[in-house]
Amino acid sequence: MFKNEALLDFGIAQNRENTQKALNELDTKIKSATLIAHPIVAGKTLKGEEIYQRFDPCNKEVLLGQTSFASISQTEQALDALTLAFPKWSNTPYTERAAILKRAAAIMQQRKFEISALITREAGKPWAEADGETAEAIDFCSYYADEILRLGPTQKMGSAPGEENTYFYQARGVGVVISPWNFPFAISCGMTVAGLVTGNTVALKPSEQTSLCAALLVEILYQAGIPKEALAFLPGKGELIGAHMVASPKVDFICFTGSKGVGLEIIHKASKVIPTQRNVKRVVAEMGGKNAIIIDEDADPDEAIKGVLASTFGYAGQKCSACSRLIIVGALYEQILARLKHAAADIIVGAACESASFLPAVIDQETQERLLKSILEAEKESTLLFKGQVPNSGYFVPATIFRDVKTSSKLWREELFGPVLACTKAADFTEALELANDSEYALTGGVYSRSPKNLDRARLEFKVGNLYINRKITGALVYRQPFGGFKMSGIGSKAGGPDYLIQFMEPRTISENTMRRGFAPEN
Ligand code: NAD
Repeated sequence: MFKNEALLDFGIAQNRENTQKALNELDTKIKSATLIAHPIVAGKTLKGEEIYQRFDPCNKEVLLGQTSFASISQTEQALDALTLAFPKWSNTPYTERAAILKRAAAIMQQRKFEISALITREAGKPWAEADGETAEAIDFCSYYADEILRLGPTQKMGSAPGEENTYFYQARGVGVVISPWNFPFAISCGMTVAGLVTGNTVALKPSEQTSLCAALLVEILYQAGIPKEALAFLPGKGELIGAHMVASPKVDFICFTGSKGVGLEIIHKASKVIPTQRNVKRVVAEMGGKNAIIIDEDADPDEAIKGVLASTFGYAGQKCSACSRLIIVGALYEQILARLKHAAADIIVGAACESASFLPAVIDQETQERLLKSILEAEKESTLLFKGQVPNSGYFVPATIFRDVKTSSKLWREELFGPVLACTKAADFTEALELANDSEYALTGGVYSRSPKNLDRARLEFKVGNLYINRKITGALVYRQPFGGFKMSGIGSKAGGPDYLIQFMEPRTISENTMRRGFAPEN
């Protein structure tokens, strides 16, 4: 039975000390300007064509490190090298590939504090959230290793006399992994190791903002034994090298996590067939969400408010699973809003590296400006219930709650990806379900209720990829809560679930007539 990596208990002094020590060590590296991410192709570290400077989102004066962006010609070089390496790596026994992933998980366990410290600084993720992300990466490695051991053996099909039928999987070819900044280590890790453990060669193109985390991941995967020829690291611009790889005939599949707009563009571009192309490109795309929580009339307000705050404002709402719409049924509306307002005022805002911080800065200046503008626009249309205070040392955005939000408004319908909550009232549970489902997305959703009848209805009628009942809607765990959505939230099977690896492979069937008349000995 698969067991998830345990999360750190920060009530234990040793865990707090280890975290602080890792943050201090990272700070020394930052001050000595030694953090730099380079493209790596066939084991060679290359000098890219442009330098990107990454500043600490929570302390915008501090330069964390630099990334050397890969050029188009280096990207081409990488795809050629990955094509060349494919036969050897795909013929490596799956048991060996699984063992490498187990080693990667063990290394990540040993280097846990170092990994989490880098996530904290580069992505602006508070202590517990960064630890959760590192644990998730460990889980992806261990779980996908187990999964390939389950899927790897050739299966016998049917039982007709005189005939032997076998069914097995082969790797697809050269894959491109394009990852977002909000889980810079775990999501990059999950998509990359899934591609590799199934025998494909992979080019990892991380998000521009968080290439240092991805560089650490690649270092660990090489250390664990992934051949350098089988994994290329290509930090760079999405619209440049990302788009180039998506359109390239040298690519067999694309595994993407990010926004709906970019995801749909990738799906469209990848469908265009170029004469020398080896395969129809498979695209796995995990995209956005506009996730709702319903608070039913008989819900426990204490539990519901705690869950809504954690789901909405944890990591400043920058999770695809985050709650951004709250639907309160009937008479509880005013009571919940009043309590929510008070509870939101207690949120601790601060730099991610401070142990008590709950609401950190958002990822960068552009995101901060976009969110502040969206909040001001929403203020013209909807009634503000709460807007918190923020420091100006980093790219902070205040926790913001609107009430009586029109369900036709932009605020209700579009993914903002920040600490902003839109609340509305439903006359009854039927209307609450209708409002929750009235979205182009279908990623996560939640219900707080004590009515077995309504919970049964939610199970059936609340149509989202991941439904949570009487708990927060973020923090999905590998294997326990396989994660992913449908509608405009994505195509492909759930990450961390039993169908995920199959997407990276082609199934084959061989049928043999076993009623043969002996072998020809000379052959
Ligand atoms: P994004 O779409 O802006 O970028 C994601 C990646 O795509 C980056 O590496 C970027 O460089 C690359 N990219 C950008 N333009 C490209 C192009 N034209 N061709 C190829 N690649 C291109 O997303 P983001 O801002 O990094 O992440 C936030 C988004 O990700 C949110 O919408 C969030 O909901 C979503 N997300 C979804 C999941 C999920 O599991 N469903 C998980 C995490 C994040």
